[in-house]
Amino acid sequence: MNETLWEEIQPWMVNIRRQIHQQPELGLNTPKTADLVERSLDELGIHHCRIIENGVVAQMGPKEGEAVLLRADMDGLPVAEQTNLPFSSRVPNRMHACGHDAHTAMLLGAAYYLSRSESELTHPVTLMFQPGEEGPGGALPMIEAGVLDNPPVSRAVMTHVDSELPWGHIGVFSGPAMASANDFTIKVYGQGGHGAHPQLGVDAIVASSAIIQGCQTLVSREQNPVESLVITFGTIHGGYRENVIADYVELTGTIRILSPDKVDLILERFSQLVGQIAQSYRAKADVEIIRGYPPLVADAQWTNRVEALLQRELGPQSVRRLSAPSMGAEDFAYIAQRVPATNLHVGVVGPNFVRGIHSSQFNLDERALITGAKAYALVAYYL
Ligand SMILES: [Zn+2]
Ligand SMILES: [Zn+2]
Repeated sequence: MNETLWEEIQPWMVNIRRQIHQQPELGLNTPKTADLVERSLDELGIHHCRIIENGVVAQMGPKEGEAVLLRADMDGLPVAEQTNLPFSSRVPNRMHACGHDAHTAMLLGAAYYLSRSESELTHPVTLMFQPGEEGPGGALPMIEAGVLDNPPVSRAVMTHVDSELPWGHIGVFSGPAMASANDFTIKVYGQGGHGAHPQLGVDAIVASSAIIQGCQTLVSREQNPVESLVITFGTIHGGYRENVIADYVELTGTIRILSPDKVDLILERFSQLVGQIAQSYRAKADVEIIRGYPPLVADAQWTNRVEALLQRELGPQSVRRLSAPSMGAEDFAYIAQRVPATNLHVGVVGPNFVRGIHSSQFNLDERALITGAKAYALVAYYL
């Protein structure tokens, strides 16, 4: 790679990353970030368009052939930043605490590099800048709007900052790599009455506590112990006062599933079990499940090819296989359902590191930007 060119690109990327960092936007509502991406692509003379309101797609290289897709996400989180950085968020209670500012800067950095020798690209390259990764999801609407279609995309990579790896390092993982995240609300209906005469009522609190306990047996007794499943109850609300039997309790939580072929089964069994437990306590339960992203499955062969390339170009000590998947979720999973895809974990831990992603003190080492940008550019050139 042309290291002199990378030296020119690094401060350009840092500047873009800091601009995005100061102005975090949430969900699908990322107009300022999308504008900045478009202005940067204009500066580089790269053709681009918006295929959804705040989703930007750019095309590079030849028009014909099967494209490789490089994805970055652009949205922040509703977190109040506590880093004291000179370029801290200027928007109260919003922060780029998941490093998506860095992903966007890295993909623009790769575009900069590729733009200097675009004629050397042997196949089309699709650059995808999506909003809404933290929810409600920008990848699926962009797929529906045709991001994979013209030119046809046949393989894809994303990057994500990894706050457990040192800067300069990249981690890869193949197979089910991230979980399906599904939210639920359970409404438990009993019958109120005097706390001194439980036989005259139906206690929604006792039924709820049985539901909370009973659902964990799905994890411990019905799931293969080597396949990960998490059922977390996050909130519980109900009741009036000490001596009144509660007639209603509402529970909410999340179900995280790693195996793609188990999602339907587990969610169905969960609803069934909740209903049956409520019934056995003479109560009634309504279960509503809001399905989230599917599990992200990284294609084994494609991951091997990407890993071999990065080892060859960045040095074998810079690239490592991660030992475990994550129960976090990622909407790049929808792309991985359609074409071979993989996630590159870009290490960001440096001397000033405090806490990991989603923390109000998350601070990445900006030297990592060049590693991520190089990885994108290498995949575009060689695979
Ligand atoms: Zn996140
Ligand atoms: Zn993220």
